[in-house]
Amino acid sequence: MPSSTPRDPLTRKLAGFGTTVFAEMSALAVRTGAINLGQGFPDTDGPAEVLDAAVHAIRSGQNQYPPGPGIPVLREAIAEHQRRFYGIELDPESEVLVTAGATEALAGALLGMLDTGDEVVVFEPMYDSYQAGIALAGAVARPVLLRPGPDGYTFDVDELHAAVSPRTKLILLNTPHNPTGKVFTADEMQVIAHLAIEHDLIVVTDEVYEHLVFTGSTHVPMATLPGMAQRTLTISSGGKTFNTTGWKIGWATGAEPLVAATRTAKQFLTFVNGAPFQPAMAVGLGLPDEFFAGVASGLEATRDALQAGLEAAGLIAFRAEGTYFTTVDVRPVRPDGDGVAFCRELPERCGVVAVPNQVFYANPEHGRHLVRFACCKRPEVIAEAVERLSRLAVA
Ligand code: PMP
Ligand code: GLN
Repeated sequence: MPSSTPRDPLTRKLAGFGTTVFAEMSALAVRTGAINLGQGFPDTDGPAEVLDAAVHAIRSGQNQYPPGPGIPVLREAIAEHQRRFYGIELDPESEVLVTAGATEALAGALLGMLDTGDEVVVFEPMYDSYQAGIALAGAVARPVLLRPGPDGYTFDVDELHAAVSPRTKLILLNTPHNPTGKVFTADEMQVIAHLAIEHDLIVVTDEVYEHLVFTGSTHVPMATLPGMAQRTLTISSGGKTFNTTGWKIGWATGAEPLVAATRTAKQFLTFVNGAPFQPAMAVGLGLPDEFFAGVASGLEATRDALQAGLEAAGLIAFRAEGTYFTTVDVRPVRPDGDGVAFCRELPERCGVVAVPNQVFYANPEHGRHLVRFACCKRPEVIAEAVERLSRLAVA
């Protein structure tokens, strides 16, 4: 007898992934009218030159499919950016690929490089699309824990070494790091580079927050370390640097075989995207050094205000060295350490939305008591959020 209930359409690869935490928490913010410090997106526009360039591109007819690897002007601007800031030399023809945000660059890299059963060493917590991308590729994540402490988030070098097996093909890295706000130090980058060289591993490094680094920390691109240029695919995106997260213009750069593998998968994901935004992004990447130097400073002030507010509310806040995000341990105000329940109740308790970090962990227990707040909002919005969060301390 045929069953009247249709079969479950979801692939086993995506079982358990559900709806992303960002969609859930942004919907909660809209529903409750709370201040959304969950999903990381700025509430101000980026540079006028960049916005004007996109309008001009639309008006001047750049509205059809751009070339598969991205328009030449943008590929050249990306190569020039890597040269100007890091001394990295790239051939814009073969070593630069424009993608639909960093998300597609990540998916393209993972789908283009991993076979079923291959292993990926990756730090946890990790940006949510990593686990899904690894799963879609049929590969297996081998997480290495970043532990919060007085020196920020650190990892155990022995644990990192132990995560490598004969099946390991690549290390997936993210610095500056979402959700911890960690900027990997030069020494830590060196340890990872040595491991990659020793075991002949590829490093895919997500550096979307490369310009959002605060006083006291320095961004060290993996591709600049000795011996790493040939085995590193670097991913970035204009969303964070130019306050254009909705444009979804990202890129992948590196040695030709790595870019080619990524491009092979990418061409069957979106093929191309964002024709009028590509020339605008090229304008952004060409802005003077002062623009880039100033990108982090406004954010550093809101990071400080948010940090102080979280501490005043009784939470243990781990100081962010970069990115949009500050993480907290909720146990002083919620002794059972249930970060998900804390986030679900927060809009009602004080009109603020945050995201529970457990979704960023391969082993959710490791992040059960941790919650992430975003500081990428106008100072008055952060001030209002801090004022509201102070209700937690008196509750
Ligand atoms: N990587 C990290 C670490 C991120 O935080 C994000 C989110 N913005 C992305 C990738 C995705 O970037 P994009 O919006 O350019 O796809
Ligand atoms: N990168 C942003 C964050 O971590 C938003 C990501 C998203 O909405 N997928 O909050």
